[in-house]
Amino acid sequence: VDLPIFDGPGGTQWFEARMYPLEQPIDGKRAVVAMLINISERRALHRRLHELSYKDSLTDLYNRRYFLERVNVHLLEKNRIHLMFCDIDHFKAINDRYGHLAGDEVIREFGSILQSVLSETITICRLGGDEFIAALVNSTDEEALELAERVRKAVEDRTFVHQDTPIRFTISIGVAPVEDESLDAAMLIGHADKALYAAKEAGRNCVRFYNNPPGG
Ligand code: GH3
Ligand code: MG
Repeated sequence: VDLPIFDGPGGTQWFEARMYPLEQPIDGKRAVVAMLINISERRALHRRLHELSYKDSLTDLYNRRYFLERVNVHLLEKNRIHLMFCDIDHFKAINDRYGHLAGDEVIREFGSILQSVLSETITICRLGGDEFIAALVNSTDEEALELAERVRKAVEDRTFVHQDTPIRFTISIGVAPVEDESLDAAMLIGHADKALYAAKEAGRNCVRFYNNPPGG
């Protein structure tokens, strides 16, 4: 058994209790040796390792692995899902102009804009590079589009300052509903990716919705 015993100076302390029966009775009674081991540090380390396995270290958002698992759970629960796939516009040019560190800060900044615009219940992930994806649960097409537009606008309106240099950037977003429960998660991203591509083609800094090609 693992038991939190009390809040000590280092926060809540966790102990593991172990009991070993003794072969020889004491005063004619069965006896045990009981050991209490403080496992607080071990527990904290496990937590941190677990966290590292599903979080992106730059933004502290979830990573791709966690995202795919989460979406699968939603699908099993028969939730209606919309994916919002975001990519920073001309991010290579931002890196080139302001430097890679400034680029990292822009990625972080975008992550925190996503967190502030989307509600806490929405799973937001950094897929890698300048790509982010959010899974909206039980929204209508209109709500998903409206939310994506709010994200896009929030980025457009924001001037981010890095080492006294004002940096402005924009993003493109592809929104895709999940229509088929049996669709695997990789396919799912594919639809949102197509919509994102359309947004880039349309000139960037805009939102596009995935449309099933006729007969497809
Ligand atoms: P587009 O508008 O078509 O998206 O143009 P883009 O320049 O943003 O093109 P793309 O999305 O393909 O470029 C992503 C670039 O992001 C490529 C890579 O050099 C850079 N990058 C990837 N990961 C990181 C990172 O962690 N930090 C920084 N600073 N740059 C990164
Ligand atoms: Mg980009």
